Amino acid sequence: MEHITAASNADPAELARFNALAARWWDEKSEFKPLHRINPHRLNWIDKLTGLAGKAVLDVGCGGGILAESMARRGAAVTGIDLADQPLRIAQAHAEGQKLALAYAHSNAEDWAAGHGGQYDVITCMEMLEHVPQPAAVVAACAAMTKPGGWVFFSTINRNSLSFLLAIVGVEYVLRLLPRGTHQYQRFITPAELGAMASAASLRLVEQRGLGYNPFTQRFKLHRFTGVGYLLAMQKA
Ligand code: SAH
Repeated sequence: MEHITAASNADPAELARFNALAARWWDEKSEFKPLHRINPHRLNWIDKLTGLAGKAVLDVGCGGGILAESMARRGAAVTGIDLADQPLRIAQAHAEGQKLALAYAHSNAEDWAAGHGGQYDVITCMEMLEHVPQPAAVVAACAAMTKPGGWVFFSTINRNSLSFLLAIVGVEYVLRLLPRGTHQYQRFITPAELGAMASAASLRLVEQRGLGYNPFTQRFKLHRFTGVGYLLAMQKA
């Protein structure tokens, strides 16, 4: 198989977008408000399934560290990796002085996997695959870095007319929760596609959740409907 490098499997325009916004990453009223609002729900779900305390965790595409830092606060030893410099800088600065087992590195899953095969109890890769040209390579790299019996969590956006209407038209144009152009419809991934990428990498689907948003209460929740945003919990054979 062709070796997929950081350069070949990342979209420079996507990274530039995250670099440009990074200064506001921890501002809960900014473009990152949705990630802040989603975070307690996904964190609790991950913690309930894995028991984060004491676990070796890798957060792929960690951005400014919202999830990575919260997992470290639950007692996990967390490494966050990302290909965009500015979010990483913000993540590092935010963690400083907190005495958490939390480290950040500039890398992607494929390159990091070269030196970290079978090392992690838990890998998270949230809201990232829909920004990557070849998500299957990221899924395979995550699987390769997971210990047998370890966990891998992915979240992304389903691809169908409803997800186009809600996640792009609704979120970017009507509610303006995210800047226009944040998401490209062609990069959305159905649960069946992600499931196939995962099973090709010896990951078994254990649980799935849909991400629900109520625009009137502005609250997110995890529910059963996976037609728009969704999260998958996998275990390595
Ligand atoms: N996972 C975080 C941030 C999501 S934003 C969270 O859910 O809170 C998406 C992040 O993925 C950005 O920080 C972006 O720089 C990063 N990213 C995009 N393509 C990537 C790639 N190929 N490898 C690593 N990180 C990538």
